Amino acid sequence: MKYNFKKTKYSSKIDLLVCPDCSEELLQVDIVAYSRCPFCDYEFLVNHELEDYLLQPAVNYFIDSHFSSKIHTGHILN
Ligand SMILES: [Zn+2]
Repeated sequence: MKYNFKKTKYSSKIDLLVCPDCSEELLQVDIVAYSRCPFCDYEFLVNHELEDYLLQPAVNYFIDSHFSSKIHTGHILN
């Protein structure tokens, strides 16, 4: 299965996943919870490509929220 991704205008870090069945544009969080399209109930097969997509925003969020604030305030934990 080849998945299509689409850039959003809201954030360069978030891509939308285009459902192969109903062509709705889904957020990463939509698929993390159920592994299914909320519109047509299409079941996503998590391949390497989809796995990267599902993990990457969480990694970005973690880095942003945990590390950038510590770097900015100068409190880096050992
Ligand atoms: Zn769908």
